[in-house]
Amino acid sequence: MTYDTNNIFAKILRGEIPCKKIYEDDFALAFYDIHPAAPTHALVIPKGAYENHEAFTANASDEAMAGFSRAIGKVATMIGVTEGGYRLIANSGANGGQEVPHYHVHILGGGRLGPMMAGTLNSD
Ligand code: 5GP
Repeated sequence: MTYDTNNIFAKILRGEIPCKKIYEDDFALAFYDIHPAAPTHALVIPKGAYENHEAFTANASDEAMAGFSRAIGKVATMIGVTEGGYRLIANSGANGGQEVPHYHVHILGGGRLGPMMAGTLNSD
């Protein structure tokens, strides 16, 4: 899969589309999800061009991976979900329900979340 440089998160990274920014450093940008699926719903994206988790872990430097992982922890603290608890999700590909083909981690919290899987598996 080739990285699509015109995906919506690439445009947010380039400043072409606004976002409600939470945090930014050399490795990551974090902002609130436009359609929150929990009382508090943030997205953390790496700064490089990686479409999903395996592309990121195969191609990013150790420094970039460490920086991104640390940014997720910082953002969880900043948005106030660490005390009550929260969930991290990284969807990948069609079966994972990934909508935006730029690697991102969802941070969901701010209230008791539902079961981890909303639906049952189907064969289509
Ligand atoms: P995915 O399904 O790819 O894991 O999640 C993509 C997420 O990006 C969705 O939760 C969706 O609401 C969010 N999203 C899509 N477009 C935008 C946008 O333009 N701005 C922001 N802040 N979030 C977006």
